[in-house]
Amino acid sequence: MKIMNPATGAVLAEVAADNLKTVRAKYDLARAAQAKWAAVPIKKRLAIIARFRELLIERQDLLARTLTAEVGKPIRQSRNELNGLASRIDFFLAETERALREQRVFANPKGKLEERIAHVPLGVIANISAWNYPYFVGGNVFVPALAAGNAVLYKPSEFATLTGQHIADLLHEAGVPRNVFVAVIGDGATGAALVRQPVDGVFFTGSYGTGAKIAASSGRRMIKTQLELGGKDPIYVCEDVDIRAAAASVADGAFYNTGQSCCSVERIYIHEQIYDAFVAAFVAEVKSFKIGDPLDESTYVGAITRKPQLAVLKAQVADARKKGAKLLLGGHVLKGKGNWYAPTVLADVDHSMLVMRDESFGPIIGLQAVADDEVAIDLMNDTEYGLTAGVYTTSEKRAKKILSKVAAGSVYWNCCDRVSPRLPWSGVKRSGIGLTLSTYGIQTFTRPKAWHLRGA
Ligand code: NAD
Repeated sequence: MKIMNPATGAVLAEVAADNLKTVRAKYDLARAAQAKWAAVPIKKRLAIIARFRELLIERQDLLARTLTAEVGKPIRQSRNELNGLASRIDFFLAETERALREQRVFANPKGKLEERIAHVPLGVIANISAWNYPYFVGGNVFVPALAAGNAVLYKPSEFATLTGQHIADLLHEAGVPRNVFVAVIGDGATGAALVRQPVDGVFFTGSYGTGAKIAASSGRRMIKTQLELGGKDPIYVCEDVDIRAAAASVADGAFYNTGQSCCSVERIYIHEQIYDAFVAAFVAEVKSFKIGDPLDESTYVGAITRKPQLAVLKAQVADARKKGAKLLLGGHVLKGKGNWYAPTVLADVDHSMLVMRDESFGPIIGLQAVADDEVAIDLMNDTEYGLTAGVYTTSEKRAKKILSKVAAGSVYWNCCDRVSPRLPWSGVKRSGIGLTLSTYGIQTFTRPKAWHLRGA
């Protein structure tokens, strides 16, 4: 399999991909190794994870450069991701023992009856990952899964393979046995082969289309399946905000990581009283974003990781313009080597347009005026997705009233494009099932086993 640099079109490396036979062999090794890992005291497992965290910091320069080279992410954002994973690991190190401690939930000394809940590792799990934040979305799964005593078959995206190999090397160097964390290398066909193994759980991050195929395959086998999928995340800007500050915050949410985030802002509704002023401030902000060499420290917008996405972006812009949207900025592929799309702002959009319905996953955004909060709520909910949603207003009461009526896994007041390790990360509708992060996202890698104990 060829690994390409999306910013230049150059071939970075060639790696051997796994096939059904090698995937099966890796599964067998992981299955054989898991029980011994689960028997390692939890403090020891956490010490190994802590060493992995140290290695992430020690090798940050190499890891960030590799990530930038293979996904086209601006180098500062690559470093941010690595530092962000370290903070998430801190949360897991602090909370895992407590989250997995066996609990006595009932005791009746007279009847000699005791009831307890124990957290048993699932066993061998498949972790199929996306390329856009490989350290985050992978780490949300493999860190707590390993800490809880599971063996992990980790398939990085074919667009973040070298990063996946770094992760495996660092975990092994930190002390995770080689067969307890095993990288499975390849594209969708390899992922499909992995899902077919008799694993005890499938933890997937990626698109709705792939998630639906995985759900169909694993559902029949009654194994735990978690799907963290796409979004079409809305923001509503009320008329009482500081317009420039709100425009800067929302523009960052839409264009950070070149718009290639599951929780990127993908739709913006603006109260009609401030629509023109907000649109002007928003365009000025986006114009200030520097696009270019992802290795340049001052670059903010990088390359489009997957070439086929250029056609999706082109089609969304053409469709919006045909239906009456105003193109205020960008709207075209940038010529030259690699995959590049100009930061694009479309005003006066509506829900007949693809740009307000389908995930864009790139540096393009639509802005729409709304008459009041009720219209905004209806539009925010008019989507097949439900990952995040946010409101900008000076009134906490108003924000809470609006957000309580919006169907989304995470809701934001005066912020966006934000993930916290302390809070569950989940989606509704086509944004997925299950969750990661928070203490629930530790327990999810275990089976709660119920003990009914009656003394003799
Ligand atoms: P994708 O669905 O194309 O691929 C994801 C992974 O699935 C890759 O590793 C791929 O090789 C594998 N795969 C492909 N076909 C498969 C099959 N039939 N069986 C098993 N595995 C298969 O998605 P992507 O382009 O890597 O990621 C982008 C998508 O991920 C976007 O929709 C984005 O919103 C979503 N995402 C969601 C979250 C979240 O937390 N909800 C986080 C990051 C990305």
